Amino acid sequence: MIDFRSDTVTKPSAAMKDAMFAAPVGDDVFGEDPSIMALETYAAQLFGKEAGLFCSSGTQTNQIAINVHVQPGGEVICHEESHIYKYEGGGIAKNSGASVRLLKGNRGRIDAKTIEQWINPPLDVHFPLTQLVSLEDTANRGGGAVYSFDKILEIRALCDSLGLPLHLDGARVCNALAVNQMDPAIYGAAFDSISICLSKGLGAPVGSVLVGSREFIHKARRVRKVMGGGMRQAGIIAAGGLFALKNNRERLTEDHRHAKLLEATFLKQDWVEDVLGVETNIVVVQLKNAAKRDEILAQFMSFGILAMAFGPGMLRLVTHLDVSSEDIDFTCEKIGMISE
Ligand SMILES: *Cc1c(COP(=O)(O)O)cnc(C)c1O
Repeated sequence: MIDFRSDTVTKPSAAMKDAMFAAPVGDDVFGEDPSIMALETYAAQLFGKEAGLFCSSGTQTNQIAINVHVQPGGEVICHEESHIYKYEGGGIAKNSGASVRLLKGNRGRIDAKTIEQWINPPLDVHFPLTQLVSLEDTANRGGGAVYSFDKILEIRALCDSLGLPLHLDGARVCNALAVNQMDPAIYGAAFDSISICLSKGLGAPVGSVLVGSREFIHKARRVRKVMGGGMRQAGIIAAGGLFALKNNRERLTEDHRHAKLLEATFLKQDWVEDVLGVETNIVVVQLKNAAKRDEILAQFMSFGILAMAFGPGMLRLVTHLDVSSEDIDFTCEKIGMISE
């Protein structure tokens, strides 16, 4: 099976498993796991931050960050289709008792002007206090769309003028950085906190890392403990994450090239209405006939290709390090054989 359902389906390579097998470990709740500390330090330095925190998932890093930034009754501003709102089980309400202001915006991205319109006047007691702005780069529901750094800087300037923290759901931030070819530390300086998934395109089996100031991470460590996320000899998995950050970032451009090949092939098919312009590793296909979605997915499956339903009349295919160039050639050939 060639599995395009998500970039979370990757399996650790032999070299990654060797690194995990050899990882020195200790009790991380006592602060004694050298492999976790190495990962946290590496990720923090990479993004120009003081400290890092290894967590079990991207949902956990996002939810912890929100919990540190926001008080109960406060408000988070984010895109209406953002992962923190749509795909984290109502965690903002449940974990932090906070309200959410959902904004519209092009392909999962929001802009400073719209954010500014929805920041509540802090002295008017009617309104929840706006306490956090959260961006997603790349934007999953936006088909892997990338923010231009100028737009991020406008949002940063707005947040600075109001004393608001800015969080990044950077589940696929390394994909974004591969496109704009930016130094992660320069990019990272625009945010107060960044959640980075190790288990997506970077290919580690488990985990995400949260980075920010020393003070922020200290608070986050407490929240992680409270949420039951204090792990013990988890260096065995952190070592896979460190291997991923060190070895699997540069090759992301290959996934992006593969996604472009899929896009070009889809656009030639008469059963395809459109493809969200591919910028990174996510290909979102809009079908001419929405009712045929599941039948088309079944045809893919009969060729040994797994894609995912992504809302009415839409398919999503995600390229990743377990999809080879040969797999892409094979898939492009089969796309041409699919009929409505
Ligand atoms: C996958 C993802 C996450 C985190 O997901 P987990 O499965 O909890 O690791 C967060 N944000 C975005 C945009 C994602 O795609």
